Amino acid sequence: MQDAKQAIVEYCRKRGALAVGVASLEACERIAPPGHRPSDLFPRVKSVISLGVGGQTQGTWQMPAKAMAYSGSTEVRAYKLAYGLAFHIEQKFGAPSIYVPPDLDPEGGPRVPLQSLKLHAELAGIGARSLAGDILLHPEFGFMYYASVFTELELEADAPMAENPCPAPSCVSMYRQIGRTPCMKFCPAQCLSGEIDDKGKQKLMRYDMAACAELTQEYEAVPKILAEAVRDEVRSEGAEGLLDPDRKMLWYKVSAGSGAWFAQCFECMRVCPIATQSPQADPILRSKS
Ligand code: SF4
Ligand code: SF4
Repeated sequence: MQDAKQAIVEYCRKRGALAVGVASLEACERIAPPGHRPSDLFPRVKSVISLGVGGQTQGTWQMPAKAMAYSGSTEVRAYKLAYGLAFHIEQKFGAPSIYVPPDLDPEGGPRVPLQSLKLHAELAGIGARSLAGDILLHPEFGFMYYASVFTELELEADAPMAENPCPAPSCVSMYRQIGRTPCMKFCPAQCLSGEIDDKGKQKLMRYDMAACAELTQEYEAVPKILAEAVRDEVRSEGAEGLLDPDRKMLWYKVSAGSGAWFAQCFECMRVCPIATQSPQADPILRSKS
């Protein structure tokens, strides 16, 4: 069991994963709501593997918010890696496996995913929930993008992180002075709030998801164009615009899996010391270690 796990970790690391872990299946089944448990998607699941890839280059943090989703989001790389891993496990160990779709549940509305990749990563010990809307952070790698694989191969589970790196000491100091942490202070939608206890630990996190979505969707080019087209009853500017040669570049980007659908404004992460300054968050430093 240990050899198989080691081989899986090495496969992922060689292909760019910074962190790999196995979540407790029992905990996933207990915490995820009915319909969204690993066994609801893959009835014979024995192990839940979670992997994280690095996001932004160090330079990306200087870019304006509207361009960050196009340059800094590396979730597609994480998904490709997980897809390859599922094939690899089947080929090497003969155990049926699946790449867990990061997609929304078609029966659950626009904010309900089929599975919570975040829960898998948290239980696998490769990310902890932050005060910035529960974005997962890692003390060494900062901010990552996550993907999951379910397999019939039995693997030993890892434990969640013993210590949450959020809030960082400098965030606690700021909170003691002004009642807010950097992510709360600089969120342009003011959708983050919370409390830190006497020991400097998270006590309460509040995230207004609707306010965040309202602001960040301004950076989502494709849905905006589609909304214009739908509003256009006489099939003039809006609907014709879908075929406009100048806009075809967007369809190309979408088909190539390159951004444009969802956005985040990233301001909460731009000011986060864990996301930007953790020892291995900087790709230049990573390449030296
Ligand atoms: S993505 Fe932007 S709007 Fe959303 S929580 Fe972060 S800073 Fe606020
Ligand atoms: S800035 Fe980062 S470390 Fe500090 S409270 Fe916010 S999410 Fe946590």
